[in-house]
Amino acid sequence: MMKNRLSDPKVTRAVISRYDFDFRKRFGQNFLVEEGVILRTLEAAQVSRQDVIFEIGPGIGTLTQYLSEAARQVVSIEIDKKLIPILEETLSECGNVDLINQDVLKVDLNALARSYNAGRNAGASSGSNASPTPYSLKIVANLPYYITTPILMSLFRSKVPAQSVTVMVQKEVADRMCAGPGSKDYGSLSVAVQYYSAPRIVEQVPPSSFLPHPKVTSAIVTMDLYEEPPVQAADEHLFDAIVRAAFEQRRKTLVNALSSSPAVPYGKKQVQDALASLGLDASIRGEKLSIPDFARLSDRLAETGTAE
Ligand code: SAM
Repeated sequence: MMKNRLSDPKVTRAVISRYDFDFRKRFGQNFLVEEGVILRTLEAAQVSRQDVIFEIGPGIGTLTQYLSEAARQVVSIEIDKKLIPILEETLSECGNVDLINQDVLKVDLNALARSYNAGRNAGASSGSNASPTPYSLKIVANLPYYITTPILMSLFRSKVPAQSVTVMVQKEVADRMCAGPGSKDYGSLSVAVQYYSAPRIVEQVPPSSFLPHPKVTSAIVTMDLYEEPPVQAADEHLFDAIVRAAFEQRRKTLVNALSSSPAVPYGKKQVQDALASLGLDASIRGEKLSIPDFARLSDRLAETGTAE
């Protein structure tokens, strides 16, 4: 058992003051000081000794200390070089933590997973397309809120071979990640998250669980990544462009939103015909379309081939 746990606010304050550390707003630095929240994050991620964990933004190492005790190996990626000497001290008892001082958006996580022999299928697996790896990869993070969406999108697009992603995000973002068609929170983030994973909100977390207190309420979300998405668009770039165009102008009908978007190479008539062939109303808005509907529409438009 570790002596100086940073989940104790007194220990965190002492470290911060000893290093004369200035919290940097631009890096979204709000450090956890609530053990219960950390334990429930680990429980949601089902962290075990078979796991290699990629942690994004370890801060001063609060969550990292617990991950180190529960997992086989932790790889923590931190952009702020001023935090590295602090992490070297706070994690000095954690022999299974490797630190990478980089912007996570510039790290090749697929290559990193290979170098740690980690993937989504640990051990011998039968009936699976992906080859088994000795250890299972999970991503766990108290994310910097200013780049939540770019980080999630890059994890999904890179098809990082993780079993799950468990993250702390702003509560409103958690609601958007989990929203379904027809809800005011349903948007391109909901479609992207639910295309690649089954998400669920684990719990809400108040500002008092962090130092300094953020202005917003937070939430832990866990996403089990699909090995094969249940719905698959033939052309994922086109699918993405259609979804983004549909929600960029969400008050417009889908026909007008898509045909006026420079990113979607189809005209009004083609979109109208595609909707009719799928039995969807010509005046429907994007916010009413389910993910299978978006995929069918994307496939149907791709089949027509002759962009106007
Ligand atoms: N995990 C710590 C905790 O729970 O106390 C800190 C979480 S804090 C909300 C977010 C952390 O992400 C900060 O340490 C920040 O410096 C780091 N960060 C911000 N942008 C980053 C990026 N692009 N790549 C890697 N780390 C980043």
